Amino acid sequence: MSWLRAYTTANTVGDIDFVALRSAGLHALLFDLDNTLTLWGGALDPQTASLLAELKSRGFRLAVVSNALPRRRSEVRRQLAMLGIPVIFRARKPLPGAFRRACLLLGARPQEGIVIGDQLFTDVLGAHLAGMHAVLVSPLNPREHWFTRLMRRAERVCGRR
Ligand SMILES: [Mg+2]
Repeated sequence: MSWLRAYTTANTVGDIDFVALRSAGLHALLFDLDNTLTLWGGALDPQTASLLAELKSRGFRLAVVSNALPRRRSEVRRQLAMLGIPVIFRARKPLPGAFRRACLLLGARPQEGIVIGDQLFTDVLGAHLAGMHAVLVSPLNPREHWFTRLMRRAERVCGRR
């Protein structure tokens, strides 16, 4: 199950030890969107927006890689644009292509990047397929897409950790 094993786990993005990631040479942060940075279908809360701004000011390179569709996400798109954070929608995770494209956008090699997300079968598996590490966070909210709920059940069988 090493393809599903996260580099580290955290309750929320605010609990991640970014100093430790930086010390390990991981300075390109590829965030999942739904249930990692925002509630499902939602926008950034002020706290998360300021965390992202702070990470950027500390020299991290940030991108968002999401399987969501861009329509009806105009608010979060506006917020990320204001922060200067590129976002890739329709990423088709766990296929590794979007993670590789995000690394190119950030001018980082995959081994300098880490995927931060709440799902084993999209974020963690996809990170590994792209040759990257992953941080698994707890999902922000139980309200989510029916397919995601199905995947959660499978994750519990495989064991989150
Ligand atoms: Mg997610």
